[in-house]
Amino acid sequence: ERPTLHHGKADSKLIVLAGPTAVGKGTVANHIRENYPSVLLSVSATTRAPRPGEIEGVSYFFVSDDEFDRMIEAGELLEWATVHNAYRYGTPRGPVDAAIAAGNSVLLEIDLQGARAVRRAMSEARLVFLLPPSWDELVRRLIGRGTEDAAEQARRLQTAKLELAAQGEFDHLVINHDVGDAAREVVDLMEIRAASSIA
Ligand code: 5GP
Repeated sequence: ERPTLHHGKADSKLIVLAGPTAVGKGTVANHIRENYPSVLLSVSATTRAPRPGEIEGVSYFFVSDDEFDRMIEAGELLEWATVHNAYRYGTPRGPVDAAIAAGNSVLLEIDLQGARAVRRAMSEARLVFLLPPSWDELVRRLIGRGTEDAAEQARRLQTAKLELAAQGEFDHLVINHDVGDAAREVVDLMEIRAASSIA
């Protein structure tokens, strides 16, 4: 049993999962979706086009720039960010508020800017940073998945270095050796009682 590194913060139903490119955030989130149905996985809105296999309302809500503007103006987004200098992504506020009001757990899989914004907006949020077992392993995973060309890989690795440097801002660090173990560690954080956390 690997220990989770943490700073003894109080219990929270709201978990933000962030981490560098190719660390396996999406895989861990999907594993949680499939194995822990009581956890609500927030579905983000995005202005990027769907990739093959992505499902409207499950992967994302795919919206136009005008619709995204409208959502911002109407205050419908808990946070939003422009990611990789390209498209906008945001977390719809309604489902998150409703789940928390009902006492359910919510997981947001968003980028570093989004994690910081959620921290400012909701002080009870717990920020989890998913780490690769090593830098070499991160490079291997990024190249291995083969979804980016060499220039894009280099750009993402540059961003990953900056993101890794921000891990100290997070409440918990989870090392993604194995998707099932990492998912279990994340889900366990939603059930920790304040009294049992070790300062
Ligand atoms: P992708 O286009 O590969 O699905 O996602 C690109 C990046 O956008 C990932 O780093 C992902 O974490 C981030 N992202 C997805 N949804 C949101 C969101 O609602 N808010 C923010 N801030 N980032 C998001």
